[in-house]
Amino acid sequence: MTNNNIRVRFAPSPTGKLHIGGARTAIFNWAFARANQGNFVLRIDDTDPERSTKENERIITDALSWMGLDWDEGPGVGGPYGPYKQMERMERYQQVVNDLLKRGLAYPCFCTQEELEAARAKAKAEKNPYQGYQRTCRELSHEEVTKRIQAHEPYTIRIKVPLDHPDIVIDDLVHGRVVFSAKELDDFIIMRSDGTPTYNFCTVVDDADMKISHIIRGDDHLSNTPRQVIVYEALGAPVPAFAHISMILGEDGKKLSKRHGATSVEEYQLEGYEPDAFLNYLALLGWSPDGETTIVPRDVLAHTFSLAHVSKNPATFDPKKLDWINKQYLSNMSDEEFAKTVVEPELVKAGLEKRADFEKNASRYLIMAAITKPRVRVAPDVVGLLHFLYTGPTPSIEEKAIRKGLASGGAEASLLEALEVLRGATSWTPEEIDTALHPCPERIGVSNKVFFGALRAAATGSLVSPPLAESIALLGKDLFLARLDHALDVMKCV
Ligand code: GLU
Repeated sequence: MTNNNIRVRFAPSPTGKLHIGGARTAIFNWAFARANQGNFVLRIDDTDPERSTKENERIITDALSWMGLDWDEGPGVGGPYGPYKQMERMERYQQVVNDLLKRGLAYPCFCTQEELEAARAKAKAEKNPYQGYQRTCRELSHEEVTKRIQAHEPYTIRIKVPLDHPDIVIDDLVHGRVVFSAKELDDFIIMRSDGTPTYNFCTVVDDADMKISHIIRGDDHLSNTPRQVIVYEALGAPVPAFAHISMILGEDGKKLSKRHGATSVEEYQLEGYEPDAFLNYLALLGWSPDGETTIVPRDVLAHTFSLAHVSKNPATFDPKKLDWINKQYLSNMSDEEFAKTVVEPELVKAGLEKRADFEKNASRYLIMAAITKPRVRVAPDVVGLLHFLYTGPTPSIEEKAIRKGLASGGAEASLLEALEVLRGATSWTPEEIDTALHPCPERIGVSNKVFFGALRAAATGSLVSPPLAESIALLGKDLFLARLDHALDVMKCV
């Protein structure tokens, strides 16, 4: 059941990709809607024709979908208050402007850029406490306005801020009470001379039309809020509740930017982070259910999110914590889930396996899952860990593995012993292999380190690999024995 009174929106401008900050704003809006059985609206603020692109719009909606943030109204799903793209709402803005003009709440301003600059310089020189637009055109007569419009003089439309307007008080749900003096507000432009609406105007027209009850957005917009309140009042629309959420900073305390590494959701998606872990981490940037819980699954977030637990202090983006949470999500998967959602897709993506192979090779995939799961930071790491399985019977052996694993005394005897013991093996499971190899070092009088080091170098071409018995089992008997022969050949040359 939805509570139709609670309506929030995420309103990205498609002038770039979806960044961490925007994604966190989207998450808070989504979670607030879900926790209150409200509606989550997606609106595309594409009024900047130079910088908005369809491609960015697609990247943003893909990123939201990847994070599992489903919208109840908006592009692709429609809804009763559409269209949900500002460029498709131009007629509506014009209609509202016309209405405000008719009601004497807005007026055309013919001042040129030079005139505005001269007036500003004069106010400054005179140390006038009010330095905004001097309201030059506010009281032009109807005749003069008509005459100048007919003469094709360019004009903007400005809103009339009531001169006796009391202070504008915002009881922000995150920042608390914030008071703005209306005296300092000038009659700001709501429509440019080319007929395009300004942000402070069209965002309010849309939020009012779309019956948005709570505006949750970055606190860089807090300073726009008094102007927006003036527009709500002119429209005769109820002013929604505001929750301005803090900035996200890098670990050096500076605003998060490219310098701090990946900042777009797309980059994390491509790097292979788990969407649930990413969502979980971003939700904790400024919100916490109790100040200490770090693992908050999606459904818990969707039930427990509350603005009362959102901090007004800036949040710090900590990539190490994101990695830690990602690892938690990976290691909490069962081997079966990890095999199906991580190992198989990643190996297929890397071109090492074919899609259809999973059911046929389920037990093999389960071993791969068990040995890689504790060792990955992000899903694609399984490829590096398992790549040794796909390098054929004569793999190249790392120089260090030759030096430390194969060139040491006792290495040759170790490989010959392993060949001898495993050549006769009838079943090829990790347990069987382990049991067969276990007594070998003692039997031939070498240390475990020498024996297993030589074997690991021969089997995997490296000194670092997932557990050995499992690795040997995964290689299969023929491939493993061929690699031992190959390693013995390599040893002859060192
Ligand atoms: N399109 C605006 C932005 O991306 C929306 C701001 C708002 O939420 O009012 O900054």
